[in-house]
Amino acid sequence: MWVQNGGCCGNPIKICVTIMKYSDLRDWYDKVANWADRYFRGLKDRPVRPNLDPGEILQQIPTSPPQHPESMEAIFADFERIIPDGMTHWQHPRFFAYFNSNSAPVSMIADQLANTMGAICMLWQTSPAGTELEIAMMDWMRQALGLPQPFQGVIQDSATSSTLSAVLTMRETALNWEGNRIGLFGQLPLRIYTSNQTHSSVDKAIRLAGLGQANLVKVPTSDNLAMDPQALVECVNQDRKHGYLPCGVIGCIGGTSVGASDNLAEILKIAKTEKMYSHVDAAWAGSAMICPEYRSIWAGIDLADSVVINPHKWLGAGFDCSIQFLRQPEKQIRTLSMKSAYLETLEQTGITDYSDWCIPLGRRFRSLKIWFLLRAYGISGLQTMIRNHVQWTHDLVNLLKEIPFVEIVTEPNLSLFTFRVSGGDFDSIEVTRSVLESINREGKIYLTQTTHQNQFVIRFTIGQFETTWEQVKMAVDVIRCHVEKIVSQS
Ligand code: PLP
Repeated sequence: MWVQNGGCCGNPIKICVTIMKYSDLRDWYDKVANWADRYFRGLKDRPVRPNLDPGEILQQIPTSPPQHPESMEAIFADFERIIPDGMTHWQHPRFFAYFNSNSAPVSMIADQLANTMGAICMLWQTSPAGTELEIAMMDWMRQALGLPQPFQGVIQDSATSSTLSAVLTMRETALNWEGNRIGLFGQLPLRIYTSNQTHSSVDKAIRLAGLGQANLVKVPTSDNLAMDPQALVECVNQDRKHGYLPCGVIGCIGGTSVGASDNLAEILKIAKTEKMYSHVDAAWAGSAMICPEYRSIWAGIDLADSVVINPHKWLGAGFDCSIQFLRQPEKQIRTLSMKSAYLETLEQTGITDYSDWCIPLGRRFRSLKIWFLLRAYGISGLQTMIRNHVQWTHDLVNLLKEIPFVEIVTEPNLSLFTFRVSGGDFDSIEVTRSVLESINREGKIYLTQTTHQNQFVIRFTIGQFETTWEQVKMAVDVIRCHVEKIVSQS
């Protein structure tokens, strides 16, 4: 394509830039594959998190868009120059922060194929194979996790969307779908019950559903951080007495802070007795349910109305891929479905239109990566990875217990534990924070923090596909070295 560019003395000059075409894809996929190969070979030698000041990347990006086409060579060169060194590397084998978000190689390939077709999987007719593969994969995943038959799944973009969908369904079930029709004004105030261990996406869902943060009741927990069932009953009774309408319970399996889990058998039974809709957030720990020996953590799950697990976390289906399982999908469909004339499928009946189950209309083709993943690893391959991570977490905790001033604050829940620096003549919060900052500035490993019972603690979770025991052991040396350094300066 010929474009005019500013020349000297106002005389335009013509330059030739060829805009990339579909027929160039093969060459560029080759180049990108070579780049990816180099990236993964060198990944363990990169800092997990770059040591950058805010704004350092921004100042390398032009402040306005180009008026004229630029070559792919120039674009790609800038990508290589600016982006990789400015990234936190989520696929790094020493990423022990947050919860991992694995992107298995087969999942990357599946996403590439899905991107190539660029389909919107909103209706059966807009992607018959996408819809029917999703139906099949949801049942494969149901079986893989040991969930009973009534559950049917849908792929959402995030646990936040899954939880919001469940909260809207709670609201509408309690109001017999009058909330959708006439709004919340004049209705009894609704109440939803959860513990202080559930993720902030629950708080967000309550706000977005128009229920008001004040109507999310944080039920007290017992010593093991599980919601106290007796306290739940008391909260519900008190609320009914005061004119509220209890409408839902949200249980937590593997909470983000320290991995706490509720006793589902008890709290879901209460939800049933009290005619409240229930949702369980197992966004992280749900992946581990692929191993039958860990399923006691969610004993009672068969009583739930809705459950979310994120295969984009531990299981390897690259972000984004969250599954919401529903016992009676028709309740959520009645809450979320919005069919205009232009969205009807004229010549078919008895079809699944997954956009009826979700908040957004447009949906990516995400079932493809679950299909590739489950076939490439088999259930046994994924079980082995998760079992290794859990075992290494226990082994690591035993090694850390030998380091002076390191105190394990919460023992492993699956592959998550927390620790702090304490026991010396120093302020534990300040020193623990300094150790964390010092570790992350160095970049050999990456860790994050939480607050647990008013203590500042460091979270450690193992969950990356490429992590080996050698990488985990390296973390012991890193932690010892930074603790010694900071404690000696305190
Ligand atoms: N629930 C739990 C337990 C989480 O750990 C997270 C995120 O880490 C979320 C929900 C939110 O997940 P998403 O980013 O998929 O909305």
